Amino acid sequence: MTETLSALSNHPLVDKLLPSRRQPVLFIGHGSPLNAIEDNRWRRSWQALGAELLARPEPPRLILCISAHWLTTGWQLTAMDKPRTIHDFGGFPQALFDQQYPAPGAPQAARLISEAVLQPTSRAPLGLDEGDWGLDHGTWSVLKPMFPDANIPVIQLSMDYARPAAEHFEIGRQLASWRERGVLIVGSGNTVHNLRTMRRDATDDQAYDWAIEFDRVTADHIEQGRLTVLNDFQQMGPVAQMAHPTWEHYLPLLYAAGAVHESDTPRFFNQGFQGASISMRSVVWD
Ligand code: ZN
Repeated sequence: MTETLSALSNHPLVDKLLPSRRQPVLFIGHGSPLNAIEDNRWRRSWQALGAELLARPEPPRLILCISAHWLTTGWQLTAMDKPRTIHDFGGFPQALFDQQYPAPGAPQAARLISEAVLQPTSRAPLGLDEGDWGLDHGTWSVLKPMFPDANIPVIQLSMDYARPAAEHFEIGRQLASWRERGVLIVGSGNTVHNLRTMRRDATDDQAYDWAIEFDRVTADHIEQGRLTVLNDFQQMGPVAQMAHPTWEHYLPLLYAAGAVHESDTPRFFNQGFQGASISMRSVVWD
């Protein structure tokens, strides 16, 4: 990796991706797209976390986000100069559709990462998407409150939903060393996510028993450092099926967990639920 980087080091962004203090790794529970613009406790926490990271001696130079909302066959990285803001939702106020997050892309860095990270089983490099996707709301709804100036380049990594949990974790593990080159890895999903059972009248601390249980077990694994056990979530049977009728909001957690260093300690924030069946629990490993 070092050779590749120095060979390309006349490129300004690659220059910036030289060794630095390790960035933290984040898992953000994103919940409703409206959290992007509503003044609520979830968004205020994102704003505070972003400000905290920007105030550090070495703020992130590049953000690599794994969003629940980009599923592909095989894995792909966005590799365009100016990724578009994707409004991948319906039935929300116009103000949400008016949002833009004009963070630059980083095609050169995407190319380097694609060469360094192999897809499990096929051992092919990560694919490069030069014109199709962009930044979906799993990414921009949290990055916009965190980094409102949109001046840190952002790359999205898709997920191959057909592949087993351990392969998602494995990609996270391969991404880990990029944290030492100024890359902030962000998994954006939810530790519990069931839209069918949402109750609009529920308060932040009201949730279904199965939602509380799945969230608690997940948090215990994280707290105790049993990160590979997170791959076995389906063994929780009916509780897991209720917590995740489909898994796309859980999988980003596995990328973040895979990128954790043994010296990191987890810090939770935004514990609580939206609509009784979406856990907003978020984690900073640092
Ligand atoms: Zn979502």
